[in-house]
Parts: sequence; C-alpha cells; structure tokens
Amino acid sequence: MTTRRRFMFMIPASGAVLAAACSDQATPPPAATPEAAPAAPPAAPMAPQEEPVPATPPEAGAGPMLDEADAAAVALGYVVDTARADKTKYPKHAADQTCSNCALYQGTAGADAGPCPLFPGKQVAAQGWCSSYVKKPA
Ligand code: SF4
Repeated sequence: MTTRRRFMFMIPASGAVLAAACSDQATPPPAATPEAAPAAPPAAPMAPQEEPVPATPPEAGAGPMLDEADAAAVALGYVVDTARADKTKYPKHAADQTCSNCALYQGTAGADAGPCPLFPGKQVAAQGWCSSYVKKPA
C-alpha cells in the first residue's frame, strides 16, 4: 500500500519535470558574451560637410520666387525680365526700369532677387518689372 501511494504521488511530479524538459523555455539560449559579439569597426573621423555657396545668396527669409503666372503678378503685369514687359498694355514702361531700381524693391544691391511689399512672402527678380514701378530716388 505504501508503495502504491508513493507511486501515485510521483506521477504528477514526474510529469511536470518532463514537461519542463521538453519545453522551449526549458533551456534558454546562451547569453551573448562580449567576447562572442563581433567587434564594431572603429569610427572613421567625420569630414566637415560644406554647403555650396550660391553666387548670389537669396534674401534671408524672403521666400520663393514670384511666379509670373501668380494671380497678383498677372494683375500687375509682372515679368521676371523687364525686356518682356507688355509695351502695348503699359506704354509708360521704359527699358531701364527694373525692380532693382524701383523704390519698393527691398533686395540688397547686387542680389539676383529680393522682396517687394506688393508680393508678400515672395521674391521678385532684380531684372523684373511690374506696372507699379516707382523710380528709386537718387
Ligand atoms: Fe518690382 Fe517695383 Fe513692381 Fe515690386 S513694385 S515688382 S520692386 S517693379
């Protein structure tokens, strides 16, 4: 009787041991040791990155170039090249009138483009023109 009772107690215990032995989690994979990990290549010194410098830097914070097709540009007959101004529609236009010598032009001297208060957030071409041209005082 004692032997049979002991045997009955051993069955659940041995089942648990067998289940643990057959389980995937029973044997965890060996932990990677620092010696086993591949050595990282030494970091190469970083070469300084140089930005290409444009020939004529754009005006800081002036925004993109005004498109001739922009509704406000069309309304004022703006062109990026004063030579292309509509002489029929604007007979007072003169060939020497450009944004760069207009009183409203806010670009720096020698810049290719600059802001104009008539077209906020955009830049007009220094060689451009529109019908609101006002000669810059000498
Ligand atoms: Fe150019 Fe003057 Fe017309 Fe502005 S107002 S777009 S600077 S011509």
